[in-house]
Amino acid sequence: MELKGYDFAICVTHDIDRTGDNRMFRLVKNSVKGIRNRNFELFKNAFSDTNIDFKISEILDMEKDYGVEQSTWYFLTMTKKLLGVTLPKQGDYELDDKFCQETLKLLKGQEIGLHIPFIELNCENIRKEKQKLDRFLNITGARAHYLKGKYPDLLVELDKAGFLYDTTFGLNNEFPIEFTPFHPTVDGKELKIFEVPLNIMDVNITNYDTFKKGIEKIIPVLKKNHGVLVINWHPNRFNEIEFGDLYRRCFNFLLLEGKINNAWMTSIQNILDGIK
Ligand SMILES: [Zn+2]
Repeated sequence: MELKGYDFAICVTHDIDRTGDNRMFRLVKNSVKGIRNRNFELFKNAFSDTNIDFKISEILDMEKDYGVEQSTWYFLTMTKKLLGVTLPKQGDYELDDKFCQETLKLLKGQEIGLHIPFIELNCENIRKEKQKLDRFLNITGARAHYLKGKYPDLLVELDKAGFLYDTTFGLNNEFPIEFTPFHPTVDGKELKIFEVPLNIMDVNITNYDTFKKGIEKIIPVLKKNHGVLVINWHPNRFNEIEFGDLYRRCFNFLLLEGKINNAWMTSIQNILDGIK
């Protein structure tokens, strides 16, 4: 695969599930979690106006420092609330919120994609969600929230809905880990859409040393095959009061390794444009 003279690629992606903008949700979440985890700092924040979940500017700065050309950010287009409080597993923002509009502005120059919310995954429903984002900018890629959806059924629906790629599969067991985008074959026919397998997600990391060893092991494999490594870091996981510094450290380590080892660190759409 041709990667503009780089040895391999790292696609830096972020699913935006929580922004911390919903004050009621933050009050409930941080007080409950603060008590449960005996985390006094987190408990205190429940009653403060400081939003400790919104780390997007910091993440962009970090990426710039390591030479990431562009990253990909998936937005949810729907959320469910009860009495003004976001329900568990839902996003805490609405696309039309002023806050969300400002976030989109902040992400100008980055790739934006659809984080498919909890809907019945047929092409009509998916197209409706796509249109909500297309009002602001043209999008080409998707990843399902909580990696919901079946392979290859979801790809068939996304293909019909006009997406150029999906990056939902790779971490669930029914699907082998691959380091290369491909066109899925359904009933003997190749779909137009690309599947770009997701390889590493922050929530699966439990230990820094194990992560470090794992990365040191796969980099030679990626270099040998000119592979594409897709990673997903949720912006709120950079909130050190809630999560400690594990996810931040791992993210920094990986981007540094990418920089040292001549990786093309960019968005998924850039990679697909590059290998056409
Ligand atoms: Zn999600």
